[in-house]
Amino acid sequence: MDDFPIIDGHNDVLLKLHETDQPLETAFFEESAEGHIDFPRAARGGLAGGFFAIYSPTPSFKNNPQNHLTEHGYDIPIAAAIDYESANRLSQRMIADMYRLEKQSKGGLRIIKNIDNLTQALHTDTMAAIIHMEGAEAIDSDLDALHVFYQAGLRSLGIVWSRPNAFGEGVPFRFPSSPNTGSGLTDLGKKLVKECNALGIMLDMTHLNEKGFWDTAQITDAPLVATHSNAHALCPMSRNLTDKQLDAIGESDGVVGVTYSLNMLNPDGKPNLDTPMEAIIRHIEYIAERVGIDHVALGSDFDGTTVPRAVGDAAGLPKLIEAMQQRGFNNEALKKITHENWVRVLGATWA
Ligand SMILES: [Zn+2]
Repeated sequence: MDDFPIIDGHNDVLLKLHETDQPLETAFFEESAEGHIDFPRAARGGLAGGFFAIYSPTPSFKNNPQNHLTEHGYDIPIAAAIDYESANRLSQRMIADMYRLEKQSKGGLRIIKNIDNLTQALHTDTMAAIIHMEGAEAIDSDLDALHVFYQAGLRSLGIVWSRPNAFGEGVPFRFPSSPNTGSGLTDLGKKLVKECNALGIMLDMTHLNEKGFWDTAQITDAPLVATHSNAHALCPMSRNLTDKQLDAIGESDGVVGVTYSLNMLNPDGKPNLDTPMEAIIRHIEYIAERVGIDHVALGSDFDGTTVPRAVGDAAGLPKLIEAMQQRGFNNEALKKITHENWVRVLGATWA
């Protein structure tokens, strides 16, 4: 698997670590059977790093389709907005935790600030951690915090999570549903896009509703990216990308990180734990066939969602690579999907 180190589009390990009672060091560096990512399982699975999300949850929001069933699927009401103060406080804590982990790792994990850091990490056994913020609630209307977070290592930002904020509105979790669920970016959101371009912070379109997606696409001068989303044509869930959105990402020389999230894989939208590995691969194939192999990558959502038993956790990633090989992906394609596409897009965005 050494040929195919995986840069992964999205994980929520920092939130998991924040919510556990265990000390940070034990919870990350000792192997556990809980959740998806810890350092030993990541190393064994060839998870070379990726986007570590800074994310402030909406209190009491439960992403449970079972409680909101409809005739053909489910419709979970959109999560409530959260306030700046608590989001800012928690974001500082989670970024600080990222630096604590870097120190405790004694060279095993590195926070990535530029493209040279990333390619160096890929050539060694150093885990590459890109600090990503999922939802911009921690950023004030003057965007001062954006500059401070940039200096603290922030290199990727999702304008919204699946809820409204001062910058735009996310998609609620709904099946079946188009991603066209609400209003687009606010004026402040448009300002945020330009400021991220100026700083060289990657903009993640995942969780944006369709109007917000097109607003961002129109303003940004960087390749379009969705770090953890799938093809709407194969699973018509609100969070997945329509063919038109995929085309725009391809035309911009951007990339989609295919997620293993169970509720975003199957044509019937059902989160069946026994969903086969092929269900993930079908989304990879679909996007590659539609917009090209240069525009598809991986975006697990490990520790932020439920994934098929066939993958299990980070240690199960070699099984995904093997299944792709069996489906006919050659070495060149696998290198692109596992890391080269992320490196190209980040190189163009951070420059
Ligand atoms: Zn997410």
